[in-house]
Formats: sequence, C-alpha cells, structure tokens
Amino acid sequence: QFRALRAVKDDAGFRAEFQSLTPEDLPAGDTVVRVTHSSLNYKDGLAVAGKPGVLRSYPMTPGIDLAGTVVSDETGTYQPGDAVVLTGWGIGERQDGGYAEYARVRAAWLVPLPPGTTPEWAMSVGTAGFTAMLAVLSLGEHGVAPGSGEVLVTGAAGGVGSTAVALLTAAGHTVTASTGRREEEAYLRSLGAANVIGREELPALGRPLEKERWAGVVDSVGGDTLAGAIASTRAHGSVAACGLAGGSALPTTVFPFILRGVNLLGIDSVNCPQERRQAAWTRLARDLPADRLAEVTQVRPLSDVPALAGEILAGRVRGRTVVDVQC
Ligand code: NAP
Repeated sequence: QFRALRAVKDDAGFRAEFQSLTPEDLPAGDTVVRVTHSSLNYKDGLAVAGKPGVLRSYPMTPGIDLAGTVVSDETGTYQPGDAVVLTGWGIGERQDGGYAEYARVRAAWLVPLPPGTTPEWAMSVGTAGFTAMLAVLSLGEHGVAPGSGEVLVTGAAGGVGSTAVALLTAAGHTVTASTGRREEEAYLRSLGAANVIGREELPALGRPLEKERWAGVVDSVGGDTLAGAIASTRAHGSVAACGLAGGSALPTTVFPFILRGVNLLGIDSVNCPQERRQAAWTRLARDLPADRLAEVTQVRPLSDVPALAGEILAGRVRGRTVVDVQC
C-alpha cells in the first residue's frame, strides 16, 4: 500500500484527501516509477482546490510533475533504479500524477535526469522552470540574442517568471522584471534582474503601438499585460506567451505584427515533443545556476499541499515549491 493525495468529487461535493492505494489502483501504462518528489505549480493549486478546468475526471491524483526512480519498464527503455523526470503529458490532469508514492506512466513520457542532477533539483525546476527554458530557447531561435536589448519578464516573482529571470541572466541578457509585489525587488535582483518595475509601469492598454523598448519578452500573465508587452516590443523582437495568471484574453491589434514584425511565440510545455524536452533539460542542467535555484525553492511535505494550493492561487508563493512525496 502507498499514500496518495486524491481529488474526489461525489454527491458530497469536491474534496482533496489522503488515501491508501495499491498497485491495482494505478492507471494503465508500461512503466512504474517510485516518486520521490513532485512540485507545486499554479495548475496544481487549481486542481487541489477543486477549481474547474484542470482535472478531467475523478477520483484523480493531481501533480503535473514527478521525479524519482524507475521500478519496472515493460518497454526496456529504462532499467530499475534509473532516475527520471516527467512533466506534462496530461499527468495530474487526465491521468494520475505526482502526488503519490508510485505512478504508472509511459516510458515515452520520461526524460532521464541529466548527469549530476537529483530528483529534488528536477522538481525545483519542474513544469514552471521547464516552461521558462522553452521560452528562452524559443526567443533565442527567433533572434533574441544576448546584447540585443532589454528582455522583459512579467509575473517575475512567480515560478515561470523567477526561472526565466535566472536563465536569461545566466545567458547574458539584460533583464527587466515586472512584478505586482514590489517587496520582491531584492529577490528579483538577486536572481539577476537589472531593473525591477511594478505591474502598473508597463504600458497601459490602449494604444496599439507604444514606444519600442523590449528586444524580447517572457510573459506568464496574459491579458492586458501581454497586449501591452507586444505593443512595446521593438521591431523584429519576439514575445513568448507562457501563461494566463492575469487573464486569458488578448486585446491587441495586428499593428505590432505587420508594422514592426513582432513575433508572438506560443509556449506549450505539456505536449512538447520528446527531443525538445531532452534539449531543454540538458540546457537547464547546464545553464540554471543551482545555488540561485536552491535559494528560490522551498521543500515541503506532501501533507502540506492542500494548504499550499490556496497560497499559490492567492499569489503568495514565491519562486518554486518542491513536494517531498516520501516524507
Ligand atoms: P505562479 O508561481 O503563481 O506565478 C504567476 C505570477 O503571475 C505571480 O507570481 C504574479 O507575479 C503574476 N500574477 C498573478 N496574478 C496576476 C494578475 N492578476 N495580474 C498580473 N500578474 C499576476 O504560477 P506559475 O507556475 O509561474 O505559472 C504562471 C502562468 O503560466 C500560469 O498562468 C500557468 O498556468 C502558466 N503556465 C503555462 C505553461 C505552458 O505550458 N504554457 C506551463 C506552466 C505554467 P508577481 O507576483 O511577480 O506580480
């Protein structure tokens, strides 16, 4: 028997509760992983708090990230004891995820842990850091090179934002961090931000074209923030759209695209192809300063997750939260 945090919905309504499961309770799959660590993302907060839009059926084990060691693999790709990481692919949404001591998944979804890294490190990166890496890779592929100008990160004190600030700085970019939490200025500067601005300092929505400022943007906020960022991106700059923490609407016009050649880049971490995943994890292991990451990471036991879900939804979680699943 093993422990799992389950999201349950029945006649009594929604609840998240700890249950004892057996291997027979695990979903179909070819590979069993002993999960040592998971993480807490905004999506996990929504799932554990019973908000609609994340979990596709009940009962379900939330947790969109997991890391640990392979117990068995019917495909022969992995040997017992191999350290692996899994983010996305619908775990913790359409299929049981990381908030349980064991998971049955598909070998094709796993990425071997980069040499020299640990499951705890991988979960301090998690979907949030992986997404930030995809955004930084995408900006680079679209001409945003170090030295090409200021790069804006919105929602900078959050999980995606914090990692994006650290990754961009490590790659040699000049980063401007936008945050609604001015008290996090010292924290953002410690990650490498050259400038820290308040949310209200971004161009207000209204004019389709603003003064050109950003060579590139990593946006996890969406809504008016993303629209303002697009309107103030320099000619032939690029904007990576990662999230919707501030809203899913995008009230923009075609002018930034047709008059300035601005690129709007979509970032999808869930169904990202395997080859790109491996490349991103290799880059994360190489480029993300481990000491900076450790500073922005808190490790909490699985039993704390129900309380933490409310915290992340209220915007009170700074940086990354690793979930120790075995303790
Ligand atoms: P998070 O840790 O909660 O960070 C979100 C940040 O957005 C907050 O820290 C806050 O930053 C800012 N924010 C929150 N509410 C806001 C509002 N009403 N207006 C403006 N800014 C607001 O969450 P996360 O895990 O980094 O995820 C960020 C977003 O990316 C979420 O929407 C998530 O669903 C999305 N996401 C997408 C992918 C993908 O594959 N595309 C992957 C992971 C996450 P400040 O405190 O600095 O203001």
